[in-house]
Amino acid sequence: MRQSQLFTKTKKEAPADEVSKNAKLLIRAGFINKEMAGVYSYLPLGLRVLKKVENIIRKEMDNVGGQEILMSSFQPKENWEKTGRWNSMDDLYKVSDSSKREVALGPTHEEIVVPILRNYASSYKDFPVAVYQIQNKFRMELRAKSGILRGREFIMKDMYSFHTSQKDFENFYEKMKDVYKSIFQRVGIGDMTYMTFASGGTFSKYSHEFQTVTPAGEDTIYIDKEKNIAINKEVFNDEVLESLGLKKEKLIESHSIEVGNIFDLKTKYSEPFDLSFTDEKGQKHTILMGCYGIGLSRLIGTVVEALADDKGIIWPESISPFQIHLVSLCTDEADIKKVDNLYERLKLQGKEVLYDDRIGVRPGEKFADSDLIGMPTRYIISPKTLANESVEIKKRTESEAKIISIDELLK
Ligand code: ATP
Ligand code: MG
Repeated sequence: MRQSQLFTKTKKEAPADEVSKNAKLLIRAGFINKEMAGVYSYLPLGLRVLKKVENIIRKEMDNVGGQEILMSSFQPKENWEKTGRWNSMDDLYKVSDSSKREVALGPTHEEIVVPILRNYASSYKDFPVAVYQIQNKFRMELRAKSGILRGREFIMKDMYSFHTSQKDFENFYEKMKDVYKSIFQRVGIGDMTYMTFASGGTFSKYSHEFQTVTPAGEDTIYIDKEKNIAINKEVFNDEVLESLGLKKEKLIESHSIEVGNIFDLKTKYSEPFDLSFTDEKGQKHTILMGCYGIGLSRLIGTVVEALADDKGIIWPESISPFQIHLVSLCTDEADIKKVDNLYERLKLQGKEVLYDDRIGVRPGEKFADSDLIGMPTRYIISPKTLANESVEIKKRTESEAKIISIDELLK
């Protein structure tokens, strides 16, 4: 894409009320637009990142047999009364229309997905099933000060699995641990993300959170580097340590962001909706469930928090809006033609290129913008390099540039 055509521009300042690093950088670089506290729109660069993250997650969900659906954001009040959450969930948005009919604005989808399954599945032959969606969620977050780490409207992947036996559930749950590790590896934060034992709520002993170490995190975890796991401070006590075989003196305390979690739901939601199956002998049993969430917007914010430097964002190759930032410092018409030509040839090779073809912008400004936007690789073409039929290549994470001939580059 030609940068001269990109309708967004970089900004020197973020909105004065924005305190988080992720939102400041993403707004200044033109990835997102702030609508109000905790609510952001995705602009062309931001949407490209979001789509890449989506596709990585989608492939991983499809690989474990997940079936993608898209559930409604408006959810019937009756369903929420059935699970008792209409009154118990503090962050639920309740919306009413002019006839005073109330609905919930979906913060999560157990109340929708279970009745859907009940419509179609009732025999042991119909299970196991896993469905997922990537969709906007709404939560009345009180502390919406962390940019896209904690939105009032945000984007989540939520998967729900349905099983006829504890063993089948456990097998799937174990698989999901590996799937999650693979996702965080692929988006570039694998090395700083720990599977973390957290309290499992009413029903199971532990749930598993995936926590990324960064100072911006609201959570505190204790990491065992050797075992490559952590414990959330909220569950930290001698009994837990003993049951996990961890030694207090080996643990490192750290701030972290919860980028995803997986939960054993047992029959918490299948029971109120009577989601059950008949076995081979014709006997009826309640379905066992698991749920598996990842906040996509939070994940993007986490990447920014964890990897950015004082010049701006640093995107991992896998989720960068473009792979290459082609920065042209040429002003002469004949030179511009040559750079245009290189841009076209890179595109023909299937490379994703943001081409800074802007005229009348100083080199220093172009480099500062390029650092702020954060593409992993920069190609700089000036009249000087062009005279030698070459370009300067610089990685966003390195300070030294390399000169390479255009021929070699295109090979
Ligand atoms: P938290 O403790 O941070 O509020 P949660 O326990 O409410 O998270 P879940 O309901 O399990 O989170 O949601 C699944 C995932 O969705 C979380 O792991 C997180 O990545 C993401 N998420 C939750 N709330 C938000 C939010 N307000 N903004 C962005 N992402 C969120
Ligand atoms: Mg929450």
